[in-house]
Amino acid sequence: MEVELKQIGRIELTSIAGIGTTVVIPGLDLTVDLGFTTPAAIRTSRVAITHTHVDHVAGIHAYLGIRQLYGMGESRFYCPTESWSQFVGFLTALDGLQKKPFAWRVKKAGMDTQALLKPGYYLVTFPTTHSVPSCGYAIVHRRMKLKAEFRGLPSTVIAAKRANKEMEIFETREDVLLAVTGDTSLLGVLDNPMIEKAQTVVMETTFLDRRKDIPKAHLGNHIHLEEVIPILDRWTMGERPKQVILYHISQIYKPEEAMQIIRERLSRQARDMVTIVPPEQ
Ligand SMILES: [Zn+2]
Repeated sequence: MEVELKQIGRIELTSIAGIGTTVVIPGLDLTVDLGFTTPAAIRTSRVAITHTHVDHVAGIHAYLGIRQLYGMGESRFYCPTESWSQFVGFLTALDGLQKKPFAWRVKKAGMDTQALLKPGYYLVTFPTTHSVPSCGYAIVHRRMKLKAEFRGLPSTVIAAKRANKEMEIFETREDVLLAVTGDTSLLGVLDNPMIEKAQTVVMETTFLDRRKDIPKAHLGNHIHLEEVIPILDRWTMGERPKQVILYHISQIYKPEEAMQIIRERLSRQARDMVTIVPPEQ
């Protein structure tokens, strides 16, 4: 499904927990996780992997093959630092199977990673908690803004100061436009200011009802809908409007059933804030 975001533009989400999850952000030439290969994902040259479980990396083989077939150039991957060498080994094995190496490079996504995507827009990692090394990714927009006390300065003076790199009249303004959690338990995600500040949060919500209860969700380091509800209720009372996209819903729910369970459990205000990615391809 597609969702239109302010500043970032259209994003495309495909997600069924355990089968495949892919989030494409075409305007930033970025895909977060590649469980499924989609045409939009193939057109992006950067892929940020939240963790190396099969439903988040299974699309990589076809992605690399199709990009090679059409001469689409080098692909750049980001993956959690602790998984780096195994992930490189995985891509090297794919090269070996193909006989003709694919064009790729892998960057370590550590807790201080700030990768420039385009002027002013950064890919920033934040910690998550899963059963293999993992991280979430945020899109942060930074820009220089005139400090309040200098707002009355003539524009010619401001332009001259900027040209002379006299930056003391400016301050950096930072907006977290989007945060994608990947798979995680709730602990460690909510603690993070990236999630609190994000204008849009793409949040894992794997299990929805008693068939898989909260303890069962915790066994797999996943989030249950019942844990999400109080957070949404708190966010509905926040100063700024927030958009929440629930994804990574388990295949045990039929798409319509999943939508119905979530709609019935959420308050009206929370429903207005939420978009659901149905578990269908
Ligand atoms: Zn998953």
